[in-house]
Amino acid sequence: MDVRLTRAGNRMIGLAMMMLVSAVIGTVVVAAAKSPAKPATPAPPAAAPATATATATPTKTPLPTKYVVLTFDDGPDVEYTPKVLEILAKYDAKATFFEVGQNIQKHPELTKRVHDAGHSVENHTWTHADLRKLSATAFRQQIMSTDQAIRAQIGSTPGCLRPPYGAVNAAVQQRAKALGKDLVVWTVDSRDWTKPGTTAIVQRVIKNVHSGSVILMHDGGGNRSQTIAALPLILKTLKAQGYGFRTLTC
Ligand SMILES: [Zn+2]
Repeated sequence: MDVRLTRAGNRMIGLAMMMLVSAVIGTVVVAAAKSPAKPATPAPPAAAPATATATATPTKTPLPTKYVVLTFDDGPDVEYTPKVLEILAKYDAKATFFEVGQNIQKHPELTKRVHDAGHSVENHTWTHADLRKLSATAFRQQIMSTDQAIRAQIGSTPGCLRPPYGAVNAAVQQRAKALGKDLVVWTVDSRDWTKPGTTAIVQRVIKNVHSGSVILMHDGGGNRSQTIAALPLILKTLKAQGYGFRTLTC
């Protein structure tokens, strides 16, 4: 994947970082990590059209300046989500979970558990739909029903939307914006969903990571035993390299 990164941010603290990421189809979306300061300065006009702008939210504890954003997609899953939570707790790491509405409906208690453990729960559509292929009405239903399922468990509405497959076009961007959502993809794809083996997953992440990386992994959507095996090694290595962990809010 062709990944371009540009950075802008809150110069006063130097922490708020905007990442412009070319998705698989070449469309640009924006991710922002949570900052301890006031709302981040809006990103300057970008070369690419229709970029979404995420804002940072205040928090009490200082956040690491060298950090990664761990993201887990396609859950919650009754087998793998608790295991991911257990490993994250062991390494004192917080992550962002992009959950699928129909999976929340099956195990709403897991969504609450993820949130209660201090992680961020965000929107990944109701059926893991390719948003480019939907009518305006279907798009809205996918997002709003998932919002509602999340809100029922955590008491707030997610502002981040991760488009399944990273599939974005101008209509998706416009519709997401109209619903108040910031589209968020990733900068490092572990490709854990291809089940390449634990070592391959670990190496792909560690080789490509740098401060500000948004790392894609999965806690649902299939057999994630390789992800579960890789995660402690990834966290151990990142911590040894001095990385902290931030979560996404939009
Ligand atoms: Zn997904």
